[in-house]
Parts: sequence; structure tokens; C-alpha cells
Amino acid sequence: MLEELKEEVCEGNLELPRHGLVTWTSGNLSARDEETGLVVIKPSGVRYEKMTPADMVVVDLDGTVVEGERGPSSDTASHLYVYRHREDVRSVIHTHSNYATAWAATGQPIPCVLTAMADEFGGPVPCGGYASIGTEQIGEQIIEHIGHSPAILLAKHGVFTIGPSIEKAIQAAVMVEDVAHTVSIAMQIGTIEPLPQADIDENYERYSHRYGTAAASQGVTHA
Ligand code: 13P
Repeated sequence: MLEELKEEVCEGNLELPRHGLVTWTSGNLSARDEETGLVVIKPSGVRYEKMTPADMVVVDLDGTVVEGERGPSSDTASHLYVYRHREDVRSVIHTHSNYATAWAATGQPIPCVLTAMADEFGGPVPCGGYASIGTEQIGEQIIEHIGHSPAILLAKHGVFTIGPSIEKAIQAAVMVEDVAHTVSIAMQIGTIEPLPQADIDENYERYSHRYGTAAASQGVTHA
């Protein structure tokens, strides 16, 4: 069942090591099927290089395995908690990408000191509290603290991202690592100052509605 989505979820999981966001078997990606409401998720503890679409596990929103030979990811209950509380979310990702996870280790949000952060996250990348793996607790932290950001850090653990598509959730995972890296370097060079709220709002509005669209909607006129 859901053969196409299993392929997309497997391919999405394989994107994580390609972008250097996960090591060995860490991290996981899932996606929700809009028609049935079922969720396809990475199997637990399987090496990415050995993973195939047939290894993906199908679960319902209560966590019952509907199809799959392997056990579902340890973070399944938290992915499902997010899907149950956010209708707009179609994909959830977890990574241990190094720079973002280093911020998570300190329990601090990443302050919004770059236009790229204002664009992508609309403010700081929030940090939720420590939560135990294998329960819904991570999902509760995500829902409580993520706001309109597509990414959140979980204290002493790593990164979770959400999106209306697998690609958007991957984008957030790639971008949070990118900005965490840059901000970490900036703090070694000198002092960082958050962008004023008005500049954050202006960048977020432009990037959300006009970035990458036709010239006319960007206010560009042709000769
Ligand atoms: P799974 O292989 O069970 O998805 O676990 C990876 C992980 O990073 C748990 O937080």
C-alpha cells in the first residue's frame, strides 16, 4: 500500500545523509498521506545506505502499524503527535546536524541575526525543552514552542522540522544547519546583534510571498 509515498519517504530519508545532516542511523523522516491520513515513516535503526522503499513502515495516527516488516522509528509517537495537532503539516524530519545540534546541546534558541534566518524562520529558531525519546513528549515540545517556524531545536537532542511537503521540511533541515553554522562562526569573530523586529517582518513577508516568483509580483518592471 501507498507505494508511491513509500518511495518518496525513502528518497526523502536518503536526502538527509546527502546533505550531511545525519550520521549512521540517526534521524528520521515521515510523511502523511492526505487521502487516508496514514503516515509513512523510516524504520528504526536501519542504515541509510541499505534502506529501500520496502523498509518503510505505514502507521495510523494512533501509532498502530498498518504495514511494514520492521519496527517504526523511535520518534514515531512524536511525529504522530505533530500530525494530530497541525493539519498543515505533511512531513516531519528529525536530524542531529552538527551545528544546530550544538545549539540544542546548550538549550538556547538561535537568535535571528541574519536576513536568511528572517526569510526562512521568521525569527529565532526556537528551542524546546528536553524530552524523552520514544514517547509523545518531543511532539508536545514541538507543538508548544515551534510557532510559525518550520524548525525547532530540542534541548540536548537535535533538530525537528516540519513542512507542507517533504521538500519543504528538508529545506528547513538544510537551512537551519546552514544558519546555525554561520551564526556559530560569527560568534567566534565578534558580537552578534538580533535584527530589529521590523526588518525580520519585512524579510519574512518578502520571502514568503514574493521570493522566486514572476517579475511583476516582485515589483520589477520591464523596459
Ligand atoms: P530511529 O532509527 O529509531 O529513527 O532513531 C534515530 C534517532 O535519531 C532517534 O532520535
